[in-house]
Amino acid sequence: MTETCPTPSEIESVIRNVPDFPKPGIQFKDITPLLADARLFSGCIDLLTDHFKPGTVDAVVGIDARGFIFAAAAAVKLQAGFVPIRKKGKLPYQTHEQEYELEYGTATVAVHIDALKPGSRVLLLDDLLATGGTAAAAAALVQRLGAHILEISFLIELSFLHGREKLKGYPVRSLVVY
Ligand code: AMP
Repeated sequence: MTETCPTPSEIESVIRNVPDFPKPGIQFKDITPLLADARLFSGCIDLLTDHFKPGTVDAVVGIDARGFIFAAAAAVKLQAGFVPIRKKGKLPYQTHEQEYELEYGTATVAVHIDALKPGSRVLLLDDLLATGGTAAAAAALVQRLGAHILEISFLIELSFLHGREKLKGYPVRSLVVY
């Protein structure tokens, strides 16, 4: 960890709340000001990875799309591979798919069938935990490949949506909790 590691309240102070985006009633947590701040962005990566030593994680799995930003940087820091879980229809090779419930309708995430070796040690990352449907579907795909989830981590957790309840059985961590 660097000496200038940010505190959760410092991180929170640069997360911009955008009301009614992308639709009425949603309070969108805009992380672009955080990403633009070199010290805070790199401090977040330090905080997300600080309890894993390089060599103890085989792959950091990131969830489409903002999860990729954190997962790729964390993978480099941990000397681990990076694996994307994408929305259905985006990955070019053969995939496993997992459907999950949205407020209205369903969505599907996908992973390449050879993205992880059985038994590989995985850190699963996304920018934000809301209802937990996306992360639970991503975790199911990782399990389907026979990999082992060490932890599921988020930059932001909207705790009033109780997303953790969908991730029971996994260690879950988040840096900023609303
Ligand atoms: P959920 O499946 O409900 O936990 O939603 C998590 C996914 O939706 C994450 O990939 C987030 O990027 C995105 N998301 C959900 N709610 C918000 C929000 N209020 N602000 C920004 N992103 C959100």
